Amino acid sequence: MTAAFPFVGGRVTLNFVSTLGKRSTEKLERLRTPEDLAHWVELAGLGSISTDEADLKAARVLREALYTLTMATLNRGPLRRADVNLVNEWAARETPAPALAIGRTQVRATPLRRRDPQPTASEVLAALARDGIELLSGPDAGSIRECEDPGCTLLFVDTSRSHRRRWCSMNSCGARAKMRTLRSTQ
Ligand SMILES: [Zn+2]
Repeated sequence: MTAAFPFVGGRVTLNFVSTLGKRSTEKLERLRTPEDLAHWVELAGLGSISTDEADLKAARVLREALYTLTMATLNRGPLRRADVNLVNEWAARETPAPALAIGRTQVRATPLRRRDPQPTASEVLAALARDGIELLSGPDAGSIRECEDPGCTLLFVDTSRSHRRRWCSMNSCGARAKMRTLRSTQ
């Protein structure tokens, strides 16, 4: 079974990027099969898509371009024209129409979702590319952080009021750091 997908980025682009985990060490690939991609898209609330090997390959290439561009935004890596071109090409394609869905208790906007007809894999990747462009060129770009746990490498938008969020999650990396601090002071 594929490792669970983290959804801690606060932004669909960063959640997509985090389908490859532990980037600084042994790299944990969570998109191993076309079904994994379809599963992630479903969990991300982007619709039910059918996927093949070509979609999987395209998704991984787009994901890595978005990752490299995000790290460049953080001044932690090269800004490559090839990545910019790739994201721009995807963003220029047709995307799912925005739609509103009625939740159980409230009307909520689900801007990347279209239930009927279901989007294609290509439309979902186009929507991800557009979200990436909006993220990296918008006001949240300055709030993107990498989890401070050395092996984690998950990215998130720090929306905390103090702008001091350090961990992808207080339940995992945050809790481990707390334990380390406790041990070192005993
Ligand atoms: Zn972490």
